[in-house]
Amino acid sequence: MLEISNLAVTYGGTLPALKDVSIRVPEKGAVSLLGSNGAGKTTLLRSVSNNLKRHSGKIVGGEIKFDGDILNKRDTPSIVGMGVVQVPEGRRIFGRLTVEENLRLGGLRQSRKSIEQTREHVYDLFPRLKERANQRGLLMSGGEQQMLAIGRALMAKPKLLMLDEPSLGLAPIIVEQVGDVIKKINAEGTAILLIEQNANMALGVTDYAYVLEGGRVSLEGETEDLRQTDEIKHLYLGHG
Ligand code: ATP
Repeated sequence: MLEISNLAVTYGGTLPALKDVSIRVPEKGAVSLLGSNGAGKTTLLRSVSNNLKRHSGKIVGGEIKFDGDILNKRDTPSIVGMGVVQVPEGRRIFGRLTVEENLRLGGLRQSRKSIEQTREHVYDLFPRLKERANQRGLLMSGGEQQMLAIGRALMAKPKLLMLDEPSLGLAPIIVEQVGDVIKKINAEGTAILLIEQNANMALGVTDYAYVLEGGRVSLEGETEDLRQTDEIKHLYLGHG
């Protein structure tokens, strides 16, 4: 289980990027984190994976625990090794490598047998990737690249999969497919932390949601209840 308590992060400026943020993702749960540009969503994911330093950011308060272990004292590879895996924003697949090679890289730390088993599972989830196994990443459509980025993260056998705006720049029908796949991954027992600006999609695939505004949690609750709130209706669902 992921437990973030009173997290505060700064990039050195006068305003903190995150302040007093507390978020929980239960074992096998599905949680989303909503918020507009600059609200601090990516910063939160960077904090969990402990790669803030690369962006000159720093945790200045609070704690992040996964299954009781304090994550902010570990390095990124060891956090991945614990089963906390990120699908970064912008997909960041290796365009010159094939689908198959991209997937293999995601499973680097495992035995050959385990890699093959997990890859078959990924191909079951994404038949399109199997069809395109030998195609270079850069020749795939945006939706296919997003599927590949998710597939590559799954190769690391996550207990918790964190996705940073997977719907960004995708057509509505593809967004729906991405949502379905996230639901399926969660139903198989992987916990989900979904970062989205597309509240409609996020509320549809998760049970609980937090809204970040200016680096703070401004609203949280069961997704069914949040859908009914005026704030969500006005700001994120485009009606009301
Ligand atoms: P987006 O959807 O645009 O990625 P976000 O909700 O993920 O937005 P963050 O990227 O986490 O927001 O940004 C939170 C705040 O931290 C913003 O004010 C942003 O300008 C600042 N910030 C983010 N990265 C850096 C950085 N590397 N250096 C300085 N400030 C940064």
